[in-house]
Amino acid sequence: MSTAKDKDTHKTVEDSAKTDAKAKSPKTAEDSAKTDAKAKPKSKAKKAAAGKSGVQQFEYQAELKQLLHLIIHSLYTHPEVFLRELISNASDALNKVRFRMLTDPNVLDAEAKLNVRITLNSEEKSITIEDSGIGMTRDDLIKRIGTVASSGTMEFVQQLKAQKDQKIDANLIGQFGVGFYSVFMVTDEVTIETRHADPDSQGYRWHSSGEGTYTIEEIDKPTRGTRIYFKLKADADEFAEEQRIRHIINKYSNFVDFPILLNSQEVNRVEALWHKQKSELKEEQLNEFYKFVSNDYQDPMGHLHLSIEGSVNFKALLFIPQTAPPLHLRHEDDRTVHLYTNKIFIQDDCKDLLPEYLRFVKGVVDTEDLPLNVSREVTQSSPAMVKIRSILTNKLLGLLEDWAKNDPAKYQRFYKTFAPLFKLGLNTDFSNRERLVDLLRFESTVTEDGDVTSLKNYVSRMGSEQKEIYYLSGEKRELLLRNPNLEYFRKKDIEVLLLSDPIDVFILPGIGQYQEKQLKSIDKADIDLQRDADETERLSENLSKSLIDVFKETLGDRVENVQESKRLVDSPATLVVGDSGMDAQMEKMMKMFQQDFSGSKRILEINTAHPLIKNLARMNLADSADPLLRKAILQVYDGALLLEGSLSAPSEFVQRMTDLMVEATKG
Ligand code: ADP
Ligand code: MG
Repeated sequence: MSTAKDKDTHKTVEDSAKTDAKAKSPKTAEDSAKTDAKAKPKSKAKKAAAGKSGVQQFEYQAELKQLLHLIIHSLYTHPEVFLRELISNASDALNKVRFRMLTDPNVLDAEAKLNVRITLNSEEKSITIEDSGIGMTRDDLIKRIGTVASSGTMEFVQQLKAQKDQKIDANLIGQFGVGFYSVFMVTDEVTIETRHADPDSQGYRWHSSGEGTYTIEEIDKPTRGTRIYFKLKADADEFAEEQRIRHIINKYSNFVDFPILLNSQEVNRVEALWHKQKSELKEEQLNEFYKFVSNDYQDPMGHLHLSIEGSVNFKALLFIPQTAPPLHLRHEDDRTVHLYTNKIFIQDDCKDLLPEYLRFVKGVVDTEDLPLNVSREVTQSSPAMVKIRSILTNKLLGLLEDWAKNDPAKYQRFYKTFAPLFKLGLNTDFSNRERLVDLLRFESTVTEDGDVTSLKNYVSRMGSEQKEIYYLSGEKRELLLRNPNLEYFRKKDIEVLLLSDPIDVFILPGIGQYQEKQLKSIDKADIDLQRDADETERLSENLSKSLIDVFKETLGDRVENVQESKRLVDSPATLVVGDSGMDAQMEKMMKMFQQDFSGSKRILEINTAHPLIKNLARMNLADSADPLLRKAILQVYDGALLLEGSLSAPSEFVQRMTDLMVEATKG
């Protein structure tokens, strides 16, 4: 029995189970030797006296002891990552032997298949992971398994200690180059049997219960590679289920470059496409891969395949979907870009790889420049991550620019689908601001319904007289086209951008100017409008001034001012905004966010060429106290409110209209 252990938490049931496990293991003689070794009082020296059949006991390095103690006695989220760690080590070892064989065919089992074999024994609740990789020498077992390489280990230990009673994210464990030990999350003791690929190598068995000591002995192992065997702890026996393990492999290790066999069946079917040459990839493969990473059922709209070497090294295969996920799923299914290091899965929603406004992009990034098992906190701030993010952003914008230039219809489809998110980049990504501005698209009075224009094209259509870029914002195109403030521009053939996406009202004022031309809302009072000399007859200055006074008096503090309009052609009146005010649409948005938001007062502009205004001027001349005149003025004002969609008292409006009709139909 393994009585020498100083563990205090383990139950005798498990201990006896362990003993059973050992009894079932083929090499019983050596096992009992091991047990003997352990039964001895704790030895101090590294190479303690050898046991009967060459079993040597070693003590873990002090830091590692502490670390292991914590690993063993903590609770975890994601304990399943132990499997990823072991497969990753096997994959590393296979890579190493493959590399060596490129130049040196003189290795043990040169013909052996390169693969990882996982065997589950559901009765025994045990797992065996075996690879035909490079294997380990005795020295490797001591220096690489029994020692921690990272100088930050103590820091990590402190971090784990500080988390005391909370569950620890198992992803933290591998961070300090001790991924192998994550196996102690799910087992009490582990056996490694290994033999190095050198033809004259010797096989070894390493065994440990994680705390205190480990043993090494020589064994007779005919094949190269490493075999790791352990029995699962009672609270981890779910990992003896084939389904569960298959699922974990699919999740974390699907793109490992070597076949993974689970109970003799190959499970990782998806190739690491991003490691291939562009010319090798068929569209079908790409589409299939996209569906795999995104959970989408449609083909992507387009993709980007990158292989970057330089100050940061990575490969990426990124996709732009056809459609945005339905609104209600947008936050739940937040799978964005999967992060891999050397084909080993790290995170499936690595948010730090892309700025927020490009989060509709799906795919895979695989870099050698981040440690495997890096924690989320580390990924975020690592300089490699910052560089990758900037390169990806740059390349994605390049792809969109290419579409915009060479396939405008596609770009327009992209834009319609993702603009609401994409446009937010203007408020956050200042380093790419100019490029983003050029990628904006708007409807306008010139574009066909549903078509859009860039600011660049707008400017190219501007007449020589026109100094500013004009826009009008509101709910939808049809409503916008009815806005009286457009009349002047329509008459003069001046193009006006029609902004029907609520976000645009917030974005355009922020852009300020494009190619040195101010962007101006035509809702604003301070637009410099030139009036033609040959205009229809207007009220004289006197008449109009006197009428304006009555308007002001009647409307009181409903308005900031009343003035003669230059922009109206067919309508009697319109509301505009003072220089410092928000335009109507923006104000409406603000009210939605903030209940008690009180917008600025508006300016009422009247069309002194309009018959109604002329009639009112005549009434005013006859009797400025005429109640009908006052009623009509209020109605003109409410009518302007109604048109822009901000009339708040429709019943009064209708009542007044009824009164006016009674008056008009009196006969
Ligand atoms: P890391 O993989 O980050 O180096 P691990 O704790 O996972 O840290 O593994 C420690 C070391 O043990 C590895 O670097 C490798 O040298 C050795 N090792 C682990 N598993 C295997 C294996 N299956 N084959 C060969 N060497 C292995
Ligand atoms: Mg490892």
